[in-house]
Amino acid sequence: MLAIRINRTGGPEVLEPVTVDTPTAGPGQVLVRHEAIGINYIDTYLRSGLYPLPLPAVLGQEAAGVVEAVGEGVTRFKAGDRVAYSAGGGGYAQYAAVAADRTAHLPEGIGFDTAAASLLKGMTAEFLLRRCYPLKAGDTALIQAAAGGVGLILSQWAKLLGATVIGTVGSAEKAELARANGCDHVILYRDEDVAARVKEITGGKGVQVAYDSVGKDTCEGSLASLARRGWYVTFGNASGPAPPVAPLRLMQGGSLVMTRPSLADYVRTAQELDESSGQLFDLIAAGKLKIEIGQRFPLSQARAAYEALESRATIGSTVLIP
Ligand code: NDP
Repeated sequence: MLAIRINRTGGPEVLEPVTVDTPTAGPGQVLVRHEAIGINYIDTYLRSGLYPLPLPAVLGQEAAGVVEAVGEGVTRFKAGDRVAYSAGGGGYAQYAAVAADRTAHLPEGIGFDTAAASLLKGMTAEFLLRRCYPLKAGDTALIQAAAGGVGLILSQWAKLLGATVIGTVGSAEKAELARANGCDHVILYRDEDVAARVKEITGGKGVQVAYDSVGKDTCEGSLASLARRGWYVTFGNASGPAPPVAPLRLMQGGSLVMTRPSLADYVRTAQELDESSGQLFDLIAAGKLKIEIGQRFPLSQARAAYEALESRATIGSTVLIP
């Protein structure tokens, strides 16, 4: 089968198409024939070495497809089931053997490409908005990189929860998309002072929470945008890891709370996976959450997909088609 492998850390150029044996399902695993594969920013950290991993490796955290075979002890699935998974690697290939407890049943009404574009990103939005800082009607949330894959889902879901949503984006085209996906206010953070604009929009009060996946470049702007006892939820490193924040800075900002959460800690069991993916798929099936697939690439062109993602040229989610 075709797989995209890395033999060394580096830029998108280290993603190499290779032919490898099709895996078999081990105990507790399902063998999934991929119909669509999700691109996620986390793979840039694994590929660059920011998050170390043993090499050679096939990256790829999520995909959707059909169960070909189940391994010993698997009762959740049978051959022929439509599924999507969010697991720890192996996704950039035509098939993957993945843990059954990282795999979810895919409802009939949801396409493979929509699932691959939304499972990992949507469960991230779910845990951030519902369990990390539970967003309430009446809150105002700042969402950094609101037109990205996670950003568009976060923005729509935050709006569904009754919050006022302020999104930041890198271009006028992205601003339009963010507005169409739940953002009440949009800030062009490459040109404007985010904290000053947030204070203007909120009448000087600031926001109850900043969901920040950009990291290094936006850390100070997020902190300075918070209301008293606001939450700085730093959950990604698109511009590089956020710098250390001194406890006193949190006090001086108004008894702020800072957390650096990871999906892996909020979706640990099959039950948590079913609950989180179930909420996501219900909203998609009901037409309340739209998944924007801005780009599709053949699997063999994974490198081009990453070049687009890392140069900030993508909107919404990106999928690879095997
Ligand atoms: P996105 O589609 O959001 O792509 C990243 C976006 O970040 C870009 O489109 C760009 O938008 C913005 N950005 C700002 N500065 C930079 C920069 N210097 N280089 C590149 N991009 C930049 O990716 P994903 O939806 O896959 O992921 C979003 C974030 O969420 C990532 O940081 C990821 O690591 C994080 N994440 C964290 C999880 C967790 O468990 N903690 C789980 C899932 C995702 P613009 O042009 O508008 O600036």
